[in-house]
Amino acid sequence: MTKKKNDPLRLDISYLVKQPPATYKEFEFNFPQLALSPELVLVDIQGTIAISVTDDGVVAEGKLAALSQLTCGRCLDDYWQPLEINFTEIFSAHPGDDPADDQQEQPLEADGSIDLGSILRDYALLDMPIRQLCKDDCKGLCPTCGMDLNQEDCGHRQESIDPRMEGLKQLLENEETTD
Ligand SMILES: [Zn+2]
Ligand SMILES: [Zn+2]
Repeated sequence: MTKKKNDPLRLDISYLVKQPPATYKEFEFNFPQLALSPELVLVDIQGTIAISVTDDGVVAEGKLAALSQLTCGRCLDDYWQPLEINFTEIFSAHPGDDPADDQQEQPLEADGSIDLGSILRDYALLDMPIRQLCKDDCKGLCPTCGMDLNQEDCGHRQESIDPRMEGLKQLLENEETTD
């Protein structure tokens, strides 16, 4: 039995799947940093992964919190975005055997491990905000001089605070001129 100690995202449950159904075990899941992909690095990952044994596999329930470094869409500063990663996934030794079962099943590896990497990546991305803001009321950059208006008021008159509205205005103006 090979235990892949080097890969923290591969959880070895080989001894658990031999237990009778309904056996339950909670794993602490704490890491200072995990690279889920080159673009997605989480830090300060904390939580639990609970494993319940089923007839031909396990159900894994994750409740994790983590931070991801993002760039604010308004002031362009990097900031730490808190993420909640909550999932319930079914792992089966024979995934897709039962066509009536419309729940997506993940394969249980032959070595009795489950791969949490793609699950964590998918659920972390699900919790990414569509509008990435360092804070809800981020004032952004002055369109005239580029000053970070959270730091200082440069005194320029702002016609439109929201730079995306500015883009929309320009789009509409361009449309008018091409018509
Ligand atoms: Zn900001
Ligand atoms: Zn300014």
